[in-house]
Amino acid sequence: TDSDTSDEAVRATCDDATTCKRFATSKGYWKDPYIQYFARSVGERKAPEINRGYYARVQGVNHLLDAFIRKAECNCQVINVGAGLDTTFWRLKDENLMPRKFFEIDFPTVVARKIHNIKTKPPLSKPLIETHSTDSLLLDAHSLDSDRYCIIGADLRDISNLDEKLKKFQLNPELPTLLLSECVLVYMTPSQSSNLVHWAAETFHTAMFINYEQVNMSDRFGQVMIENLQRRQCTLAGVEACQSLDTQKERFLKTGWEHADALDMMTIYSMLPQDDVARIERLEFLDERELLQQLLQHYSICWATKDKLNLGNYEWI
Ligand code: SAM
Repeated sequence: TDSDTSDEAVRATCDDATTCKRFATSKGYWKDPYIQYFARSVGERKAPEINRGYYARVQGVNHLLDAFIRKAECNCQVINVGAGLDTTFWRLKDENLMPRKFFEIDFPTVVARKIHNIKTKPPLSKPLIETHSTDSLLLDAHSLDSDRYCIIGADLRDISNLDEKLKKFQLNPELPTLLLSECVLVYMTPSQSSNLVHWAAETFHTAMFINYEQVNMSDRFGQVMIENLQRRQCTLAGVEACQSLDTQKERFLKTGWEHADALDMMTIYSMLPQDDVARIERLEFLDERELLQQLLQHYSICWATKDKLNLGNYEWI
């Protein structure tokens, strides 16, 4: 059916993220010793503005994620929704920032691929075994559950099934919880993504939701971005919620979140540590700074919070 074709195209987007991250790390934009196990080769060259865009995305998201985990002193959970082949679990382990438990959700076929890689690559499986206390580690074709890391195959549009599975794997609603979605909500209709963020607001009393995705999509450049994805049969069902920074924030403020902020990626790029930005800007020559600006103005990070435990200040800083 059409919907199967478009779900399949959406599942394939996790490879885009992985190959772009692999290429950018091979050029030295940032370090990720684990991404090589998820993307077979470095692949074809990506334009410098794409690499800088991924740099801003990774640094920006990590900035908020790490700040939350530090405030909670690791006494928290992370739930990465639509995690694809993301390697954050291993980074947090290496940086001594491991939450009590790290959950990932994606479609069962994507999860099966990720688990296969973990099973067959010791640098991926070793940290998992090291952080597990018993020998009863669940690692079958479609789910993985250890003390600190859990990967679940589920459709994010089916909230009751999602809730049930997370609880089965010891999700603790009392713990401060960080939810992360990177280029995921845009593939769901506005009502489906609202249901998901509403479920999160209802479930946790102390939480932050970080959402990275497209913004300012009504102008000409935004239209071209949409057409490019549609050409690959990817339906951006949620593009309505990506009209502006305000529509990004509204999704959270209307569903029970206390506070929401949103910045476009050009602004975030200018707020990242400028000595490191200067370093990466020397890696590859960029002709047209305007192209980078346009691209980064069409992506954003929105973060929303609920803070019963008073973890404190959620400004960018
Ligand atoms: N967040 C990862 C990253 O930044 O590397 C992957 C991003 S990729 C563009 C989008 C991911 O969302 C894909 O892995 C896709 O399978 C997943 N996804 C989209 N809609 C989903 C749904 N309804 N249920 C589960 N996963 C979904």
